[in-house]
Parts: sequence; C-alpha cells; structure tokens
Amino acid sequence: MTDQLFTTATIDDLSPIVTGEMSNVCNCMAYDAETGESTDEPSPYCYGCFDDAVEMFGTDTKHLFDLFGHDRWQIVGFPVWNGTVNGRFEASTPIELVRAMTVRGEWSMTYRVYPDRIECSLSHHDAPMGSVTIVKPLDDDSVWY
Ligand SMILES: [Zn+2]
Repeated sequence: MTDQLFTTATIDDLSPIVTGEMSNVCNCMAYDAETGESTDEPSPYCYGCFDDAVEMFGTDTKHLFDLFGHDRWQIVGFPVWNGTVNGRFEASTPIELVRAMTVRGEWSMTYRVYPDRIECSLSHHDAPMGSVTIVKPLDDDSVWY
C-alpha cells in the first residue's frame, strides 16, 4: 500500500491535487436577512469559518496522514522574523497539523496539496510577504533536507 502511494507521488509530482487557503482571522461576510444572501460587509459574528477551513484542510490532506501510517512530519522553510527554519513535529489530526504549520498570532495561508507533500505560503506579522514552505510526512528512509 505504501509503495503504491509512493509511486503515485513520483508520477504526479508536479501537479497539485487540490489548492486552498485559510486564515485564523475571521472572514465571514455579513448576512442580509432581507435577500437571504451574504454581503460584502464583514460579519459581526463568526459563523465558524476557521473550523470549516480546518475541516476542509483535513479532507485535502487525508492521504498524507495515511501515507506512512505514523504521525511524524517534517517542515522546511517555516518563516520566522530573521529567515526560515526547518523542523520535525508530530500531528495526528488536521488541527494539530495546522497549528504546527502556523504561528500564534494572526496568519493567513495558501496551500497546494500534492500526493506526497503540502506546499504553502504562510503570511504573518514577521512574514508579511508569505513564504515557500514544504510540509510532508517524515519518510524514515529519506534524507533530511
Ligand atoms: Zn468567521
């Protein structure tokens, strides 16, 4: 099973399966009670956009959680105030993965999901221009880079 997925990953290396974006800042739009449609105005209430985005992210990345059957990941190019850092972490749920890929303050992120990895651009206070960050399940046999 693992071998099969890995082969697929090499073949489809260049084209993302799915792309998405999310933020921990509410982006809900106000709801017009008369027309029944959302407006261009920010909503005074959050309808749960972050939880919805995490759920979507979890669907988009489910195959990566299953890829090697463990919860160890590596991240390359995480943006910090003076450059980027690489690291390893554990995540067994979508929200744990999101937390490991982001920062404590306000942030927004666009992501592209591939068969074997996530490529994302994370924008936050110390990285207003975004980043080129790669997150992938840690392959114990692969060379750390
Ligand atoms: Zn919201």
